[in-house]
This record gives sequence, structure tokens and C-alpha cells, in this order.
Amino acid sequence: MTVPSITEYVDGVLAGDPAVLARAITLLESSSPHRRAIAHEVLGQLLPHSGGALRVGITGVPGVGKSTFIDQLGLNLVAAGHKVAVLAVDPTSSRTGGSILGDKTRMDRLAVSPDAFIRPSPAGATLGGVTRATRETVLVCEAAGYDVVLVETVGVGQSETVVAEMVDFFLVLMLSGAGDDLQGIKKGILELADMIAVNKADGDNATRAQLAASDYRMALHLMSPASTTWTPPVLTCSGMTNEGLDELWKQIEIFRDRTSATGEFDERRRGQQVRWMWSMLDERLRDDLRSRPALSELLSSMESQVQAGDLTATVAVEQVWQAYATDRSST
Ligand code: GDP
Repeated sequence: MTVPSITEYVDGVLAGDPAVLARAITLLESSSPHRRAIAHEVLGQLLPHSGGALRVGITGVPGVGKSTFIDQLGLNLVAAGHKVAVLAVDPTSSRTGGSILGDKTRMDRLAVSPDAFIRPSPAGATLGGVTRATRETVLVCEAAGYDVVLVETVGVGQSETVVAEMVDFFLVLMLSGAGDDLQGIKKGILELADMIAVNKADGDNATRAQLAASDYRMALHLMSPASTTWTPPVLTCSGMTNEGLDELWKQIEIFRDRTSATGEFDERRRGQQVRWMWSMLDERLRDDLRSRPALSELLSSMESQVQAGDLTATVAVEQVWQAYATDRSST
């Protein structure tokens, strides 16, 4: 297959051609400087057409029922006339070589819908690389006309935090029972949640799910709310039977309408952009610092001296900074 031109990428994406969209995403995922330069150009031209989707992050431990849930929710949304993109942030995929999340075979009904686009997590990259690619993928999917973007993640490392930072609404799926008392909740997850849904609330499990939901409600109640406009609701649902999913989506729409009216919706996106800018700058500066051969010996010597207690961190930083400034001005 010939390599598409920049115009072919842009026109194909804007026309909603899924094959071109998939190739454009592969381009964005590339780490080759030449391909990155083309990717930047494509992204720049698509940017004015992006921003139109409701971006929803979904997290939960393996086995909580994420793929079953997203498969069903996606079908409901498509039936209601939406175009749905499902992306994944999976920091483990670089280690295992294969993606666990966002896999088409895990969402087999949604995968065959012409109004759905499913993309697994890019493999072989750091969490930073996966994050950048996924953020850009969201924009490209929006330019392709997808008005709902679901970003799936499993709570490994920092993945929940990075996904919460790229979406408008962060949904946490939980399970009831099986030692899943409140102590088992990963620290910080409640602060990120815009909604908690106790999943698999079907059959014999329905009552236990209700009980778990009131425990979570209590836990959320003890926290100071992040917004005066929105108190994160706790619902029960079943991805398998579709019970509770309509109500759940209705709540997400209410969130969007309410926070749009107060301006919080846009404010949140702008705050995310600013933090993202700094995080990319931080990363770039650190990479630049670490990649300079002239500094490598100094850096490791400073590190061991600080470690040994022979030098304070402040003095070490001062020395590194001076050497860095000198090296930069000479290259
Ligand atoms: P994931 O690892 O979070 O993506 O979870 P899966 O969607 O693969 O589901 C894990 C297991 O739970 C599978 O055996 C599913 O059949 C089952 N499961 C998923 N959703 C539900 C549900 O809503 N109710 C019940 N009872 N089982 C479910």
C-alpha cells in the first residue's frame, strides 16, 4: 500500500473513512522523527475539526466487566444515533507485547457496527508515549465524526490518573462482595470518580450490589466534593443484562449539560491542556538533560553522592544545572 499524503490523511479522516483513520492513528503512534513531523502536520489540520465528542474514561480492575459493559453501552449509543470510538490506555501492553484492553475480540458485537471504531492501546511504548498517542487519537476520532469517545483503562500504575486527565467524565466500575470492602479501593480513585457504578448487579448479586453502592455513597459523602455543580452519583448496573445502563448514560448527559451551563466543562478541558503542556515540557527537558553524553558522568556521580549523604540535593542540582547550561550553549 502506498503511503498516503498529508492531504489524503486529512481528507480521509474528515470523510470518516475508518481505514484512513486507523492509518492516521498508526502515524500518530510512530516514534520516528520523520513520521512524527508528518503526524504533526496532519494533526494541525484536523485540530479545528476536533473537540466535538463527549469524552468518557472508564476504569475498573480486570474482571469487573469492562469489555462486556463497553460492548453493551456502545451498542446502546449507536442505536441512539451516536458514533462511538473506543480507545484504550494499557501500560502493561508494552511489557506483554499484546494489548489486553480495547481489543475487538472482547467487544465482538460493537466491533462489527459501522458506527463504532475500536482501537487497542499502542504497544511497545512508555505510559508517557501511550498517553500522548491516545490524547492525539481522541482529537483525530473527533475530526472523523465520532461524538462519543470512550477511553478504557485498567488501574495499573498511573494509568487512571492519565486517563482522568484526558476525559470530560471519569467513570469507575466496581464490584460488590469478594473482599471488595472499602479498604480495597485504590487510594485516590474516589477523588477521580465523577460516577461510581457497581457492575454485575444481576441475579443473586443484585442485593449485594445495592449494599456496596450505599457503602460507596457513604465514602463519597465523607469527601469534600470537587465541584459544587456535581456530586458523583453511585449507581448499580449490569453490562451483561443492560440493566441500569440507560440511567447511567442519562446521568453523564446531565453532567455535561449542567457543567456546560456553568462553564466548568470547558474550564476542565482548558486546565487539562495547560497541565498537559507542562507535563510534555517537563518530559522533554528531562529527556534532553539525560541524553547529553557530556552530563552522564556528572549525573551519576551527583546521584551517588546525594545517595551517600555527601552532598545535598540543592548543591547537586546547582552543579548539574550549570553543566547543563554550559553544554546547551556549546551545542
Ligand atoms: P474485564 O476484564 O473488566 O474487561 O471484564 P469482562 O467484560 O471480560 O468480564 C469478566 C467476566 O465477568 C466474564 O466472564 C463476563 O462474562 C463476566 N461479566 C461481565 N459483565 C457481567 C455482568 O454484568 N454480570 C455478570 N453476572 N457477569 C458479567
